[in-house]
Amino acid sequence: MSAALFAGEIPLPVGWQVSQPTGPTHTLSMDTVNQRNGKACGRIDGHASENRARACFTQEFVKDSALKTGINYRYSVSYRTDMPFEGSGSILIDTYTAEGEKGRRQLVSEKLGASMEWKTLSGEVTVPGNVVRTRMLLYLNGRGTVRYDDAFFGEAKEGAPNLLKNGGFEPTDTFFRYDMAPEKGAGAIKISADFENGTVGKVKEIDDNEFYMYARDRDKHRSSFMWFHFMLTGCKDRETVFHVNATPFSALKTGGNGLRSPVASYDGDTWFGIDDKSWNADGDVLRFKHFFTNNSAFVASFFPFTASHITRFIEHHRANPCFKTTVIGKTQQGRDIRMYVITNPAVPEAGKRAIMFTALQHDLETTGAMTVEGIVKFLLSKEPQAQKLLKESVFYVIPMMSVDGIAQGNTYCPVGNMNRQWGINTTHENTAVEKVALDIAKRGQKLDLFLDFHGWCVKERETQFHTLGRELVGEADEKEEMRFIDLVKSRLTGKTHVRLFRKMTEHVTMGPTDIRRLSEGWMKFEGKARLAFCIEIFGEGTALQEDYFSWGRAFAGGIAEFYGAGK
Ligand SMILES: [Zn+2]
Repeated sequence: MSAALFAGEIPLPVGWQVSQPTGPTHTLSMDTVNQRNGKACGRIDGHASENRARACFTQEFVKDSALKTGINYRYSVSYRTDMPFEGSGSILIDTYTAEGEKGRRQLVSEKLGASMEWKTLSGEVTVPGNVVRTRMLLYLNGRGTVRYDDAFFGEAKEGAPNLLKNGGFEPTDTFFRYDMAPEKGAGAIKISADFENGTVGKVKEIDDNEFYMYARDRDKHRSSFMWFHFMLTGCKDRETVFHVNATPFSALKTGGNGLRSPVASYDGDTWFGIDDKSWNADGDVLRFKHFFTNNSAFVASFFPFTASHITRFIEHHRANPCFKTTVIGKTQQGRDIRMYVITNPAVPEAGKRAIMFTALQHDLETTGAMTVEGIVKFLLSKEPQAQKLLKESVFYVIPMMSVDGIAQGNTYCPVGNMNRQWGINTTHENTAVEKVALDIAKRGQKLDLFLDFHGWCVKERETQFHTLGRELVGEADEKEEMRFIDLVKSRLTGKTHVRLFRKMTEHVTMGPTDIRRLSEGWMKFEGKARLAFCIEIFGEGTALQEDYFSWGRAFAGGIAEFYGAGK
């Protein structure tokens, strides 16, 4: 296997756009074996010739890069083909005026025949006046393989710079420096993602303490959020460097949480940020390094929240008589859905209000889960406010709803978006939580407050409260909602935003949604909660685990004051 081995693995050449008008009839890639110059050339493989099957590399000069008109330009490009070569290559240069398609004019259209040797084709063109856009297109029509290298387009005078970006079809530095580097390490550090919530793609040891890796397997289902989570062993007293190829994600497109990336932990429970980090110029590889002081460590793209963390949390609080845990059902794939029940057992349940929290309907929204943990830590503390609350209330806390998605490496809701499926009996998870609310009502207890937590990382800290406006729940409830929001708000830092749904069908995230299919809507209308909220915890990039626990403490303080347990 020659270059085909790399097809798809090597990113397409920076600067060039790919046009595939007939779809999969043609594939475009970089060829690192048969280049004319440098480290690579552009390559097009044609697998069909019917119906004008074709594809091309293209670059255009438009807007900021628009060409000066009325002057002469020189173009040249080198090409070679494989044999046999049924199809034909072609180079095309055309221009457009502001009139668009009507103002199109072809300046160059040359057919390239078969040639096993590199051939160079060049000429001059004048870009006419009133042209706003000029394109250069390097085609393969029909079946065969053509390679392009050393393309030039610039003013027709000595020493004029090449106006094409990456005319040499060179790969990025990162790719060669790291991915094509030979394996050099002695295998002292081992990397694995073979554990719950773990995920990492191909890993290459390029030196004893340096790794190049893909964020996740290319053929594995992934969410619309960037995610990696792996374990190192043998890393004690080593400064270890990682180059994580996040493709198809990038510095600007992580789906949230990228502002924090990455984080590390020695025990899987306490996480710290790695701040010696940078994205490469193309924004597709995140480089970071850390000096590890333990023999094993975890590294992740954001603070993970796993079922084993919950197990350890439960163990840690087992001796507390106010803390009980129960399994409220099984997930679609048979995992436990767990719930904490937190109350003072010395006070009879009759007459106590019920308060319920849920988190992690969405796998990666661990900011909400950490906030809930902050509330629970407060409730289990010796604070007088907490103790008063536990005498008067029973807290039902479901710390993780998407247990399956999280176990498999944050695949984001294998049962679909849970927060559109309340009350329709389509997922085990929603149904199990609904039953908890319905049972509360059956026992004659009043579900007074329901909070469903979500959120991720954003540029500026923000807390959002989503609940139901007076048009749906009446004046008195809206007043109480606002009283609750104000008490929490007074304890928060950063921006806050309140959204009151005023119609039963509202535009939520992607489109119109019946709000009874959302947690807060179902809990209000079916679960008979007096007040029901969805809370978004949007933390800034520098926020640490401890900041999210404090966020929970702010909510706990607001809840305590709301119920008259003091400030
Ligand atoms: Zn969410």
